[in-house]
Amino acid sequence: MSDKNAARRRVVFFDFDNTITTRDVLDDLIGRFSGDDKWMEFEKKWKKGEIGSMECLKGQMKGVRITKSALDRYLSTIKIDPYFKKLVKFFHSHGIKSVILSDNFDYILNTILSNNGIGAPEIFSNRISLRGGRLIPAFPYSNKDCGDCAHCKKTSLEANAAEGVRSVYIGDGLSDVCASGGADTVFAKDYLKSYFKEKGLPHIPIKNLKDVYEYFLERRRI
Ligand SMILES: [Mg+2]
Repeated sequence: MSDKNAARRRVVFFDFDNTITTRDVLDDLIGRFSGDDKWMEFEKKWKKGEIGSMECLKGQMKGVRITKSALDRYLSTIKIDPYFKKLVKFFHSHGIKSVILSDNFDYILNTILSNNGIGAPEIFSNRISLRGGRLIPAFPYSNKDCGDCAHCKKTSLEANAAEGVRSVYIGDGLSDVCASGGADTVFAKDYLKSYFKEKGLPHIPIKNLKDVYEYFLERRRI
């Protein structure tokens, strides 16, 4: 098989928070704009596995109070990893599709990507609407048959990686564990890296997207 044909048979999945962005935007937003500290209890329960991410996010979003102008002002401060744009361009030039799988919300992702001059690749995320200073979440990609996650990234991954297509997953957090377990190649940072290391599972440890870019560019592993 030629390199070009091989490339067509790959798809790359990116997590968003702390993978494309340089910090966890959703956690930061919830912390900054919550009226009280109840969000911390939901976060602790989720991290301990006592609740799913849907229950966690529903509970946390109830406590957020924010106007549209304050949200837009906050989102205008968010920076993304400069190598994201280079990677998407590189993959695109090799006929490889890039897909974002996120447990964050559509308006937040679209605004940040647009602010940073990124023509958004395909995005699968939760959805949000702003009503009366509250963020009302919706979860179109949950999967009750799988678990209690807000966005079942594993289902989205499987839906976008047809049989015979090799999948690459790039992520950092607890919400990436399940989906990345079904990928052929995993680039892992922070919590996800520790998880894979602890379990003795194959992965490529990264600090940021520059490491991913150099991996593909220098080794020509396409
Ligand atoms: Mg993340």
